[in-house]
Amino acid sequence: MQEKLRWRASHDGLTKMLNRSAFFERANALAYESQLRQRPFSVIQLDLDRFKQVNDGYGHEAGDRVLAYAAAVIDDTIDPSAIAGRVGGEEFCIALAVTAAQAVTIAEKVRVALAQKQVFAGNSAWLRVTASLGVASSEASGDYHFESLRSIADRRLYIAKTSGRNRVCDRD
Ligand code: GH3
Ligand code: MG
Ligand code: MG
Repeated sequence: MQEKLRWRASHDGLTKMLNRSAFFERANALAYESQLRQRPFSVIQLDLDRFKQVNDGYGHEAGDRVLAYAAAVIDDTIDPSAIAGRVGGEEFCIALAVTAAQAVTIAEKVRVALAQKQVFAGNSAWLRVTASLGVASSEASGDYHFESLRSIADRRLYIAKTSGRNRVCDRD
């Protein structure tokens, strides 16, 4: 029971991922530990593309199914040592102790895994969902501050959006 309550306090019921506050806590800890050990630290920010159209076209329940599916794809694609969380409605974040180049490779793997499969949206409809991703790393400036790296990753995510979606951007 205690275990169940603790799990519920730190996870999102729909996607089973860490919730925003639990994720931020763990990501901050990983950033701190990486700095102490002088290991690289990177952040990937992900936002589903045109997700509103899924809700509008297939209903909120289908939207929820797509969210749970996207979370499962992310979890299956990343290494167990990476930390992933749902940080907004259809926004996810991944914190990892890897180099910028490795983070880009992982972000690209997640992008392809999402885009390759189709998800059941109900009423015999299958749809393809894509995501845009932004990557930032401590390597560039020696900055290990998680929130500032996340905000750089977010800025790059929006560059990915405006340059066509379904892509990874790791520079300004
Ligand atoms: P873009 O490619 O620019 O990101 O377009 P978008 O449609 O994904 O972006 P927008 O921010 O306009 O829409 C996000 C939508 O996500 C709006 C909101 O209704 C939906 N959403 C947020 N949380 C949930 C949720 O828990 N379940 C469902 N079904 N939808 C959600
Ligand atoms: Mg969004
Ligand atoms: Mg979106």
